[in-house]
Amino acid sequence: LKCIAVMTSGGDSPGMNAAARAVVRTALYEGVEVWGINNGYKGAIEDDMYKLESRSVGDIIQRGGTFLGTARSPEFKTEEGRKQAMANFKKHGIQGLVIIGGDGSLTGGALLSKLGMPIVGLPGTIDNDVWGTDYTIGADTAANTIVDAINKLRDTASAHRRIILIEVMGRKSGWLAMTTGIAGGAEYVLVPEVKYNIDDMCQELKEAYDRGKRYSIVVVAEGAGSAIEIGKEVGEKTGIDTRVSVLGHIQRGGSPSVEDRIKASMLGEKAALALISGLSNVVFGFDAGKVVSIDLNDAVHNQKTLDPELIRLARVLA
Ligand code: ATP
Repeated sequence: LKCIAVMTSGGDSPGMNAAARAVVRTALYEGVEVWGINNGYKGAIEDDMYKLESRSVGDIIQRGGTFLGTARSPEFKTEEGRKQAMANFKKHGIQGLVIIGGDGSLTGGALLSKLGMPIVGLPGTIDNDVWGTDYTIGADTAANTIVDAINKLRDTASAHRRIILIEVMGRKSGWLAMTTGIAGGAEYVLVPEVKYNIDDMCQELKEAYDRGKRYSIVVVAEGAGSAIEIGKEVGEKTGIDTRVSVLGHIQRGGSPSVEDRIKASMLGEKAALALISGLSNVVFGFDAGKVVSIDLNDAVHNQKTLDPELIRLARVLA
């Protein structure tokens, strides 16, 4: 292909810039024209796109967020919206598209590919919930942000002998909660993938306090329930001073970690090279430390599961 485009879509994640930068610089290195689409599918429909130069992606590798902007686009879920996007791509001579985003964005990509647009997807989400890849762009940085927050909350929990519940992002996926629960030394991790019993948890928390424990940390994945509601119940049932901290959008921001910068750069290069050489309808990700390609339809039609080893380890170490 002689002209490709790149977009970021859905929730932003740290490292999207590094990935887009790698797509752009690889394309230019190969002598291929490259366009940026602003605000994901919204910009594709509104014809908000422009030709990029090497300098367009300067000074962004260290930044969270995405220089292209991102959005959620209900119009793109209609056939009419997708046809409008296709007409805009055709107008500018765009022959292939790299989409950096989560499950929903890649599902949108699979629909575009049905209309004849060659698509390469890159998993960009802090949730780490894309099937077929161990890694998604931004999850490592988000996990580090959460662990930093847990460390700080531990100090104050200990000073006051409190139970602190920390709600983290992850919608249907408990990956962020489970990994940060283990790394942050939490007593309990509540995730949507594993059934839990609040009464049993309260009983155990109480017994631990009776044995002299000074404080407890409970990490709650947003998909497992509202930490505010669970915290209220825990406070009432244990009689122990309980506080809740909902971390919210702070988890999405910040300068990407080294892992996110390197892996996003590797994926961005692969994505551009694949499209240029005529390979499409794949998602690039990582499996056991190596870049792998996953069929786009497989990636969007399968549900990723939480590694049982993590669940087991969290139980053993608590
Ligand atoms: P994150 O996991 O970080 O939230 P995401 O990519 O899953 O990211 P979504 O809001 O689910 O975020 O999707 C982003 C956009 O992708 C939507 O606003 C919509 O334009 C498009 N999209 C999502 N699902 C579909 C679908 N089933 N059909 C067509 N387009 C879709």
